[in-house]
Amino acid sequence: MSFLPRATVLTSNIVDNWHTLDALHPGATTAAVVKADAYGLGAARIARALKVAGCSTFFVAYLDEALTLRKAIGRGPRIFVLNGPMRGEMAAYRDAELTAVLSSELQLKLWSTAARGTCALHVDTGMNRLGLPLALVETEITALRRLAPVLVMSHLACADDPQHPMNLRQRRAFEEVADAFPDTPASLANSAGCYLGKGYGFDLIRPGLALYGGTIPPADVQIKPGVVLDATLISLFKGSKGTSVGYGATHVLTEDRMLATCAIGYADGLPRSGSGKLKGWIDGVACLVAGRISMDLVTLDVTDGPKSLKPGMRVEFLGENANLEAQAAACGTLGYELLTGLGPRVQRNYR
Ligand SMILES: *Cc1c(COP(=O)(O)O)cnc(C)c1O
Repeated sequence: MSFLPRATVLTSNIVDNWHTLDALHPGATTAAVVKADAYGLGAARIARALKVAGCSTFFVAYLDEALTLRKAIGRGPRIFVLNGPMRGEMAAYRDAELTAVLSSELQLKLWSTAARGTCALHVDTGMNRLGLPLALVETEITALRRLAPVLVMSHLACADDPQHPMNLRQRRAFEEVADAFPDTPASLANSAGCYLGKGYGFDLIRPGLALYGGTIPPADVQIKPGVVLDATLISLFKGSKGTSVGYGATHVLTEDRMLATCAIGYADGLPRSGSGKLKGWIDGVACLVAGRISMDLVTLDVTDGPKSLKPGMRVEFLGENANLEAQAAACGTLGYELLTGLGPRVQRNYR
């Protein structure tokens, strides 16, 4: 029995979320983005479960991640490397049967002069982050087609804001790219992009965050939590009126309150910016963080918490009650950052 903070990865919920997204775009292939160790939850275990469920296309960011993933899932499933190849990496792509996503003119040049495997083309339709200039699709179309890409793709800058005019602008630009490669599958949507409607699905969707329980889906789409993060309640006590709680003495008690201190802190990934705003759930009852979150500890005001409190109980910070996006918003951040920020001390379990 360990009293460490614990992240229980709900593999079957992640698989359910993959099916839910898959059903939104029936004509399209549903890939899974498992970069950054599947957003901190464990790429090997999750990719293996998704592979069993029928997922045969995975995306990572780095060659190193792709090589590790290839060992975990074996030959067969396609692995795309979003950051694309750097000098000296070409043979590794070929040998591990990885697909290089080419997104700069330098990468095009490297790729066309090396012994190589398969490639995809990432075209920038307005994000100005990574991707080939749109104009190149017109001026270099013959050379680009000669690379025989297995996918043409682009990435949405504002998919999490359905009303944003960028979405339609990028979709229109990408339709021209897809038209220029009539025999090549096309892909535009990340998780939030999957919610923008049929016109955004193209031939392949690339969800990441939604698989793990993030995003704010439309009312008719149900995304299940991908992880339960909980911690041990180690001390329960009365805080007296007029005293303060935690570093900086920022939280002053205006009356006697019941306080509970839990063994989890910012070293484990509870952002310090959630001080005074984040909640922990005990037996399904939400209790607010009182004062500053410290490295290993956080104190909750449990005055209105469940009746039968005692040390040793587990307090939920992510899960069925503690919604990932709501908790992230309380910390002024996003589900992405909260998940990938879970610290090395957090014990990962798989269910
Ligand atoms: C990370 C990433 C995704 C997945 O994004 P989510 O918002 O997590 O679904 C898809 N495509 C590209 C190019 C990415 O970098």
